[in-house]
Amino acid sequence: MNNELLNMELLSGPLYQNAIRQLDLACDTMKLDPNVAARLKYPKRALIVSVPVRMDDGHIKVFEGYRVQHNMTLGPGKGGIRYHPSVTLSETAALAMLMTLKCALFGLPLGGAKGGVRCNANHMSRGEKQRLTRRYTTEIANFIGPDKDIPAPDIGTDEQTMAWMMDTYSQLIGFAIPGVVTGKPLEVGGSLGRTDSTGQGVAYSVMCAAKHLGITLDKNTTVVVQGYGKVGASAARKMNKIGCTIIGASDENGGIYNPKGLDLQKISDHLAAKNPLNTFPDAEPVTNSELLELKCDVLIPAAVESQITEKNAARIKCKILAEGANSPTTQEADPILYDKGIFLIPDILANAGGVTVSYFEWVQGLQKFFWDEKEVNNRLWNIMSDTFDKVILTQKEFKVNMRLSALISSIRHLSKAMLVRGFFP
Ligand code: NAD
Repeated sequence: MNNELLNMELLSGPLYQNAIRQLDLACDTMKLDPNVAARLKYPKRALIVSVPVRMDDGHIKVFEGYRVQHNMTLGPGKGGIRYHPSVTLSETAALAMLMTLKCALFGLPLGGAKGGVRCNANHMSRGEKQRLTRRYTTEIANFIGPDKDIPAPDIGTDEQTMAWMMDTYSQLIGFAIPGVVTGKPLEVGGSLGRTDSTGQGVAYSVMCAAKHLGITLDKNTTVVVQGYGKVGASAARKMNKIGCTIIGASDENGGIYNPKGLDLQKISDHLAAKNPLNTFPDAEPVTNSELLELKCDVLIPAAVESQITEKNAARIKCKILAEGANSPTTQEADPILYDKGIFLIPDILANAGGVTVSYFEWVQGLQKFFWDEKEVNNRLWNIMSDTFDKVILTQKEFKVNMRLSALISSIRHLSKAMLVRGFFP
């Protein structure tokens, strides 16, 4: 990486640098026009906002929030809003770049963006979260819009957060604008199938990989999921539905393991009763690092970034690693996993079910015509399997690993669009 990039505070975080190293490798391998490569390294725009919120005890706390638009060549920005204590401008920028690459890989008419507020949403009341969301939305209102940049849920945010964002934006404009966000509740223009779409897509990508590798997915197929949240739990449910046995799951407080299989309905009941996951009775507790190293057929990291690094990669014992989370594997870990013969389905391929169904939601909203869940899932399957096949073809063409192949496929599509649009002014 050149020194100028390293010196720019926005780009100095470890996640951004990891993303740049991967981008550099892909651009070098495909011999991309260096002028295009240079533009891809920088976000188009980045906004920092302060978000003052009256807390329940009456005092005002000021949070820091961001919205970064990385590249809008293909269409409006698209990307989640994260509420987490570790959110930074640089992390948000790295995740925005990943969104650009994900949308381009899937041929969606969308650019890449990401937003977030540094806060601990788990320790905030519903009222505090609502006031935070409404003020944050007000601060970024000029930056977003159905034709400009369309947020969606991510870590710490959900359908309710999107409903508050949609309502706040609509109040500012004067009439209902459902298209400003995706991942909304059905009652305000959400799409059937959106809630489970990222996890569903992760499972679809595993099905494609298993077919490609000649592996049968049945009750003897063991699955471990790190991060039993929106993505992890729905991926686990889908893998279970197609007959696989879920033997391990975790959240930020730790994990559980049962080699005979976990009963997901009982886990749901246990969590609904406000019990911590790692006190689930029909399993033994494990730490998150032990969980990642369990012997299994399919490992789905679906929590946060940089969980599989050069320190633990050699001890990972799965056959297929499907990245439900964004950037759960560092670039240094990739070759170690590759040498072990682990088939890695990179994040921009494995977890794109969410943005794909967000795109479906946006299209349905624009047409005011809504599809049934079967149609949503069929379309998701078609686009996931076609994209998987495209990545395999690129892999054969360039003789590279799956991550590089997915990046090359994506950049190839995006760079053609950038070149044909030309350079302004
Ligand atoms: P979520 O907040 O619903 O769930 C996150 C889960 O991870 C929670 O169970 C949390 O306890 C756990 N977790 C947090 N830190 C952890 C740690 N250090 N170790 C183990 N577990 C930890 O969030 P989500 O929407 O499911 O997102 C999870 C990942 O998937 C993120 O990387 C996100 O960017 C990515 N992603 C989400 C979507 C989406 O549609 N929600 C789409 C694409 C990618």
